[in-house]
Amino acid sequence: MVTLIRTTAELTTLRNQEKAKIGFVPTMGNLHAGHISLLEQALTENDTVYFSIFVNPKQFGPNDDFQKYPRTLENDLELIKKSKNKFSGKNIVVFAPEKAQEVFPANYEQTIAVSHFNRIVEGKFRPDHFDGVSTVVYRLFEIVKPHKAYFGLKDYQQFLVIRQMVRDLMLPIEIVGMPIIRETTGLALSSRNQYLTPEQKQEALILSQSLIKISNLIDGKKSNLPEAKREIDTLLLDKKWNYLEMRDAETMSEKLTDSTRITLVAVYQLGQTRLLDNIQLEVV
Ligand code: AMP
Repeated sequence: MVTLIRTTAELTTLRNQEKAKIGFVPTMGNLHAGHISLLEQALTENDTVYFSIFVNPKQFGPNDDFQKYPRTLENDLELIKKSKNKFSGKNIVVFAPEKAQEVFPANYEQTIAVSHFNRIVEGKFRPDHFDGVSTVVYRLFEIVKPHKAYFGLKDYQQFLVIRQMVRDLMLPIEIVGMPIIRETTGLALSSRNQYLTPEQKQEALILSQSLIKISNLIDGKKSNLPEAKREIDTLLLDKKWNYLEMRDAETMSEKLTDSTRITLVAVYQLGQTRLLDNIQLEVV
């Protein structure tokens, strides 16, 4: 069964009656195969999955695309039903709050602040973005009370932020990170790809191709990092990169001497559209 819920009060009533373990997938809607991979993993691992569709005003900056962010509830519900049909006996509760006040009542005062991650890499480009993300995810966790929650590694820094929040606040929720779903060209699926012209979509391939090139150069060996760094510096001559960085995959520290896993994280900007991508690799 797929149940659509539009208010927090209704959701709370339903949630209080649940006996099954709950899996949770928070999204901003405009669903594509990336979101659906999270849903289907959650359906595989849980009898009941709560799936939220909420364009969170708190994670958009003043110049971001909050107003024009695509809202496509009807189509999203169709995709969710298609997935549900592959999983008989399972239930999906779609929580699509009618108004932002369902999630953040008018006098809502709390912010979950993430100091370290808010200041580095993506945080430098989007001041307070990760505070907005952790605040909404915490709030949705309070409302949904899931046992497991599913996030895409597409937003790698976001995944680390949520994992850190759950550890710091000792929330009894298991965080599951899911691999990036890509087009056959290598372009990571994103709701923002639809802002791209066909030419820009072609140009965007530099992102995944550069990450692959650098990880091939590293080839699992820390001794190759200086060469990789030189390649990154050459790529960065193209000013469309917001950043292209090698960081420790757990802490996002720049210091890699003790790292066993590193992440290459990048944003390439085409017009107003910032395209995110990343790769994780083991190194010895
Ligand atoms: P969003 O609706 O953009 O906030 O994304 C909701 C969830 O879907 C987040 O956990 C994202 O990381 C995840 N997600 C978005 N795009 C992809 C993708 N291409 N592959 C895997 N997960 C994704």
